[in-house]
Amino acid sequence: MKILMAASEAVPFLKTGGLGDVAGTLALELHKAGHEVILVLPKHGIINTQKFELTPKFSPFFVHLGTATFFASVLETRIEGMPTYLIEYDDFFSRNPIYDDGKKAYPDNGARFAFFSKAVLDLSLALGFAPDVVHCSDWQTALIPYYLKTWGFEGDFFRKTASLLTIHNIGYQGIFDGLGLAPFIGLNWMQLRPDEFEAFGGLNYLKGGFFYADQITTVSPTYAQEILSEPGGNGLSSYLERRKSDVMGILNGIDTQEWNPAKDPFLPAPYTAKNLAGKAKAKEALQKEFLLEVNPNKPVFGVVSRLADQKGFDLLQAIIHELMTWDLQIVLLGSGDKEMEGFFGWLPSIYPGKMGSYIGFQPRLAHLIEGGSDFFLMPSRYEPCGLNQMYSMAYGTLPIVRATGGLADTVTNLDPKTGKGTGFVFNDITPGALKDTIGWALYTWYNERPVIEKMAKQAMAQDFSWAKAVKGYEQAYAKALTRRMGW
Ligand code: ADP
Repeated sequence: MKILMAASEAVPFLKTGGLGDVAGTLALELHKAGHEVILVLPKHGIINTQKFELTPKFSPFFVHLGTATFFASVLETRIEGMPTYLIEYDDFFSRNPIYDDGKKAYPDNGARFAFFSKAVLDLSLALGFAPDVVHCSDWQTALIPYYLKTWGFEGDFFRKTASLLTIHNIGYQGIFDGLGLAPFIGLNWMQLRPDEFEAFGGLNYLKGGFFYADQITTVSPTYAQEILSEPGGNGLSSYLERRKSDVMGILNGIDTQEWNPAKDPFLPAPYTAKNLAGKAKAKEALQKEFLLEVNPNKPVFGVVSRLADQKGFDLLQAIIHELMTWDLQIVLLGSGDKEMEGFFGWLPSIYPGKMGSYIGFQPRLAHLIEGGSDFFLMPSRYEPCGLNQMYSMAYGTLPIVRATGGLADTVTNLDPKTGKGTGFVFNDITPGALKDTIGWALYTWYNERPVIEKMAKQAMAQDFSWAKAVKGYEQAYAKALTRRMGW
């Protein structure tokens, strides 16, 4: 198939979260599986031109939107042979961070990503690349399905092109006040209905995308169910409900090249399920790095996360002082909510040797925490798929998770009778439930160490490679094409 992968971020260029991981990795996996894939993303300021050997492809490159014409350019490179294009328009994309100034979303986000969405299709035309499917992700590219079915209808070029919209996180919808953007992005009164883009007097890009996309996917089967009703749908469940038969849940894979303890350059020594000696070294390095008591017998609970409401770390906040009276250590790597950054950044100073934290985004430390911890905490309120619990399992680190979304689909709760399981799972979104579950893990660590070792081996034996996901997307693309024919 000819697939155009459009995303606002993608590895290896840049990522702020799971979306970036998935878009880049999935594109490459589809390319390796023999599909003709091109990846398109904005040329964000922090993407290094030299490092990625970006060369000019089109300059100037005209993008028309409403009554405006933009003089942009297009840069080209190849990632393992896969053609990749970056749309360069500095007024919109040179800034960093890419979506907000650290506190508030940029006020021109609606214009920035409408521009990008239109530019993606203009580029497709300029390249003479008529895709079978345009794969879009989240609100940033949710206008593409709309453009394909309106403007794209005017010529023959996109006549057979289907669209697929992946929801990585329905908490982010691309909501803009008022209807002022409508003429700019090319919406007319037909689209300004609550069925389509209008929402409470403003615009909702994701909701409009649901209306026009031929197929809708999300990143785990359980999350696909959760978003069909409230509160999981974040206000959009009734719109999704109408497209119910077109909604699929496909579990993300993980990048097993990057996240593999047998060849992780960030770990002091490699290790495998057969020989865990390297894991003990990683634990020692982790304890040193975070100024914890260096002791193999103290269990380390790791955290690598955005500090956002979704992730449930207020539950940890509520019980942390009590946890610190227990015989355990906690390391946290995270950034986001300023208040939480302050809180977790301060804790090591009052619990030296037991609590370590680093506030910021640091891939090296993320790898060290995955490798060196014994347990990994993910008390998410909701979690569309989640990658870190899968990384943890690959590293023989047992995840402690709430039963939601992809966490429920990937982590098997310990069955104390059989010793089977790959982690510890709780249901209630309460500090007490988290505390009890950490307590259960801790009890198992101190009293039934063979069970922990057995679980770690089971966790490491799980297959989270992309092969399964690629099959799922191939099916979804086929469904999208069928539906496109019917439109
Ligand atoms: P989300 O996309 O909701 O943030 P995921 O678990 O799906 O959550 O993906 C998070 C990704 O971002 C993982 O690859 C994780 O390692 C990485 N990550 C999150 N916070 C940090 C951090 N502070 N430093 C380094 N990597 C981080």
